[in-house]
Amino acid sequence: MKIKDIEFRKFISREKIAEKVALLARQIDEDYKGKSPLFLPILNGSFIFAADLTRQVQVPCRVTFVKHSSMQGASSAGQLKTLIGLQESLFNQDLVLVEDIMDTGLTLTRVLEELQSLGTKSVEIVTLLRKAKAREHAVQPRYIGFEIGEEFVLGYGLDYDGWGRNLQDVYKYTGQGKPGQVGN
Ligand code: 5GP
Repeated sequence: MKIKDIEFRKFISREKIAEKVALLARQIDEDYKGKSPLFLPILNGSFIFAADLTRQVQVPCRVTFVKHSSMQGASSAGQLKTLIGLQESLFNQDLVLVEDIMDTGLTLTRVLEELQSLGTKSVEIVTLLRKAKAREHAVQPRYIGFEIGEEFVLGYGLDYDGWGRNLQDVYKYTGQGKPGQVGN
């Protein structure tokens, strides 16, 4: 299948994804019995995963979306801001960060740094995909859907230059064409 200028082939089917999402939701239910987690999906890539996952979770929960800004500027309070869109107080909350894919781990490291000063009760990470090099990273998600290699993927929320987020399966780059800029 061609997206813009490059070829992709199906990699993880929608059925496999659905099975995995249900499994992750059951694990979260088990671990958060008696608690009410606050899910923090990191936009844009996690929007479909987060929608499917949170609809399967049975424990009472809330969901609030945030965006990671790669351009770190000063906020009005003069602090560095990595997370945009955060309205709720995270004080004393059991947070579950929802990520689409962990590659270098830089995004999650930055997000965790920003959360450190906010007095959260606990912070765990659920990521749909984790690339091979992230396995060595200091940041270890508690919940991981699929461990993959170094391939460039899209679909199920993940894009190539803005395209492909709406695909129901996850596809991978075949090596034909040249991937350019990716979103987040
Ligand atoms: P990290 O900060 O862990 O290197 O990268 C995480 C972010 O990079 C993801 O949230 C995602 O937006 C983007 N990313 C990393 N690998 C891929 C990939 O294979 N495909 C797509 N579409 N985005 C990726």
